[in-house]
Amino acid sequence: MQTKETNCPCGSLKKYNNCCALIHNNIFEAKTAEQLMRSRYTAFVIANGTFLQKSHASKTRPNTREQKDLLQWTKSVDWIKLEILKSTKDTVEFKAFFQLNGKLDVIHEKSQFIIENGYWVYFGIV
Ligand SMILES: [Zn+2]
Repeated sequence: MQTKETNCPCGSLKKYNNCCALIHNNIFEAKTAEQLMRSRYTAFVIANGTFLQKSHASKTRPNTREQKDLLQWTKSVDWIKLEILKSTKDTVEFKAFFQLNGKLDVIHEKSQFIIENGYWVYFGIV
């Protein structure tokens, strides 16, 4: 559980309430693609499906079935940490480490972000 005493899962060393929670409550708070990406990682950690949908570009957003699977999957893994390798204005390359059934695994992705309705959203893999 995230409380205001817990460091934010995104690795910022700030408290969750002073970090990704601000973006989860108001997506316009993500001023850069990297901030949005970090807040999406945190949303995976705490299984915030509403935010994952909102922060996904409308063109590439998962359908209801896919959303359900994604949420179920993220609840079944233990998220370990996020490593940002490189970010530009509209791309972020990262590694997201997690354990599934005690086995360490990593997602290594370069993501594309766009501005839609005035705020940053995830578009897809570059
Ligand atoms: Zn954060």
